[in-house]
Amino acid sequence: MIPQETVNLILDTAKIEDVVGDYVTLKRRGASFVACCPFHNEKTPSFYVTPSKGIYKCFGCGKAGSAVGFVMEQEHCSYPDALRYLAKKYHIEIIEEELDAEQIASRQRKESLLLVSEFAQKFFASRLKEGEGRAVGYAYFRSRAIEDETIERFGLGWAPSGKTELVDAAIAAGYKMEYLLDAGLAVKYEDGSVVDKFRERAMFPIHSVSGRVVAFSGRTLRSDNPAKYVNSPETEIFVKSRNLLGIYLAKCGSSTSSRTT
Ligand SMILES: [Zn+2]
Repeated sequence: MIPQETVNLILDTAKIEDVVGDYVTLKRRGASFVACCPFHNEKTPSFYVTPSKGIYKCFGCGKAGSAVGFVMEQEHCSYPDALRYLAKKYHIEIIEEELDAEQIASRQRKESLLLVSEFAQKFFASRLKEGEGRAVGYAYFRSRAIEDETIERFGLGWAPSGKTELVDAAIAAGYKMEYLLDAGLAVKYEDGSVVDKFRERAMFPIHSVSGRVVAFSGRTLRSDNPAKYVNSPETEIFVKSRNLLGIYLAKCGSSTSSRTT
């Protein structure tokens, strides 16, 4: 728990234009700033940030709130985690009151899901460099003029066509089946068998703003497959409406255009 006086200090210190400005490029317009809304697709800016009121508001989709609310929305996090994010940004020290057992368990679970997602991203990336991945996946990226540097930066990969290649590799590396299933990387059939969620697909990891892999989008390269994209389901670490593909990379100054599904 964060002590109340620290909460007040964080709320008083956080500047809405700084906080939002970390995610989107703001342009001054009178007493406000405008940008294209990070929460819905638009070409004409209808997203306003008003420093004097400490709020943002989108006149397109209606989303509005404070700096903390913006971080919660963007980072897909709780109110306390948004406060921790802001404290870190403004170098405010938090001396936490102790967590209860349930809070500790929940954090450990989320961390386990993040770790297995990170393992999967590395697995897909390594498979892009060999055999089927190189022949099909890598050839596809190159045909789309995607350079090696971009492949590296986005962490693109290849999900092999075998039924349980990721599952087998993850289990062999010590990851629990429970977390593979709950991270949306594996699917369990009624007969109890478990298979990889993503197979024979070019893989695009989806990052949180803090840069961690939270989900994937997999594109088939087979013209006879009607499911062009398979995406991760919503999980404890991934809420679709709150995560934008490539936002982490965009924030880091990538000039590569984002893909739309
Ligand atoms: Zn909007």
